[in-house]
Amino acid sequence: MTGSASPEIAALAEMVRGGPVAMLTGAGISTDSGIPDYRGAGTPPRTAMRIDQFMDDAHYRRRFWAGARVGALRTQHIEPNAGHLAIAQLERLGALSGVVTQNVDGLHARAGTANLAELHGNGAVIRCVPHDHRFTRTEVLGWFDLANPGFAETHADAAITPDGDAAVREFDQVTVPVCPACGGMLRPNVVYFGEHVPRDVFAHAERIVEAARALVIAGSSLAVNTPVRLVHRAQQRGLPIAVINRGPTALDEKPSLTLRIEGGATETLTALVERLARGA
Ligand SMILES: [Zn+2]
Repeated sequence: MTGSASPEIAALAEMVRGGPVAMLTGAGISTDSGIPDYRGAGTPPRTAMRIDQFMDDAHYRRRFWAGARVGALRTQHIEPNAGHLAIAQLERLGALSGVVTQNVDGLHARAGTANLAELHGNGAVIRCVPHDHRFTRTEVLGWFDLANPGFAETHADAAITPDGDAAVREFDQVTVPVCPACGGMLRPNVVYFGEHVPRDVFAHAERIVEAARALVIAGSSLAVNTPVRLVHRAQQRGLPIAVINRGPTALDEKPSLTLRIEGGATETLTALVERLARGA
């Protein structure tokens, strides 16, 4: 188990005391908050929709905004969990060079993490395609309500899909919100399948790994390509690497893996902070 006195936590604490650690997080850090159906908390959108469909076809945009609006009825109360808070606390203790996340839920920032690279963007931010005008998702969903009065309430019982949105069936009459500044198309500021991590975001993530003496991966199976490239940077520099995850990961059989903790990111990181706070 991963109580603060366990040998695994002791080994992790030893690694953290060796210098600042780069923390790389995935879906597990957000699903640990007890939100079983909100897999979108951790991962890029997993609907069949690709970015080119969204951009090229008004049908997909209507479906997206209808689903986003109804889904928000049930996901708007989601808060950072103890794992996010433990990571923010580690940063305040001087234990981190920064946090790199695959998650698009914005929960690390809300928990207080300051030096944060969100590889796949942040779904709470909406931007216009032509000019990069930026708005919050809450604002845009408010415009959706003005243009589609009563829609959310009428479809409130639609099932929630794995990406956190709702599977609304009737959306042909939906009026899609547009940028109030330029009239252009609005989209979530997330990296969809078919898109690349923005260059400046990846460079930021690289700096976080460059400044670290070790890499800790929490709640990710490393099934996605971009984080794997960061792990390779750490391996090339010979950094110790720890993986905290429930279930197998792509690093499990690799000789460069220093420490493998099979368990939840939240309970492990909470125990780590407890141990460091005790000075143990
Ligand atoms: Zn605009």
